[in-house]
Amino acid sequence: MDSSEQRIRIAVQNSGRLTDHSRDLLERCGLKLTQSKNQLFCYGENMPIDLLLVRDDDIPGLVSDDVCDLGIVGLNVVEEKRLAFENDGRKALFKQVCELDFGHCRLSLAAPEGEEFHGPESLVNKRIATSYVELLKKYLKKKNVAAEIVYFSGAVEIAPQLGIADYICDLVSTGSTLTANGLAEVDVLLESEAVIIQTKAPLNVAKQALIDRILQRLDGVLQVRESKYIMLHAPRAALAEIRALLPGSEAPTVIPLEGVPDKVAIHAVCTETVFWETLENLKAAGASSLLVLPVEKMLA
Ligand code: ATP
Ligand code: ZN
Repeated sequence: MDSSEQRIRIAVQNSGRLTDHSRDLLERCGLKLTQSKNQLFCYGENMPIDLLLVRDDDIPGLVSDDVCDLGIVGLNVVEEKRLAFENDGRKALFKQVCELDFGHCRLSLAAPEGEEFHGPESLVNKRIATSYVELLKKYLKKKNVAAEIVYFSGAVEIAPQLGIADYICDLVSTGSTLTANGLAEVDVLLESEAVIIQTKAPLNVAKQALIDRILQRLDGVLQVRESKYIMLHAPRAALAEIRALLPGSEAPTVIPLEGVPDKVAIHAVCTETVFWETLENLKAAGASSLLVLPVEKMLA
């Protein structure tokens, strides 16, 4: 078997909002990468995994065509391309396998400030500028509204000022770009974040095993993001109350303290944020010697 067949290829955005997060996530899974001179590839030094660096819009197609085994891309692009494939009578041969909790944004409809919006019926016979033609078509069809879609490949937010459109449909995260252009968000079509997609093409056993290993590591990296390891001393009598105060911790370890029969040490992994307030409440319940440590890796 050709050795290249054993390597996993992951499509990642070459330069944009998802690039640094995608690479950082893979590096936190233990992958060491070197970039090729032509900036098209990143080679895995310690694992048979390479990255193909491309425009995000090309990622679903590359995974569907089995040029790449996996891709990291926004759900907004995945859903837009899935609909475009279906419209072309082609099957989208990729499946979503993991949500990555970064690149959060939403595809929203926005109107010039002061423009009245009383629900989707306000869009009847209006012009809406967007790069997300398929998702907008689907929304209009679902709302049973006939409107004109004006395709814009970028800088959609200036369309109303240019007199080319009445509304826009674009990605929003903080909303500051909309505000700066005198626009207000009026409806949300899709909530999005970065996801991993995998090709539907059958993979050999070794490749699938490697993908499963990477996905398990990713799961561990994502789980520990908010997690903290908490250690404290507590009176035995306060054990139940203290357990109830530990955020997102299922079964803490309770250890006897040498020579102090009425006290125990409690160690727990808290999967939710440990606030100062949490520590103050624990202290008020009788806890002492509180220590909160970051968790680097976790394998369930
Ligand atoms: P490319 O050159 O790769 O086509 P692009 O201009 O389409 O780049 P970026 O602006 O880098 O893409 O955005 C990539 C992805 O980041 C989006 O598809 C979306 O999933 C996510 N994203 C998160 N917040 C925002 C935002 N405020 N505006 C646009 N995209 C956002
Ligand atoms: Zn793009």
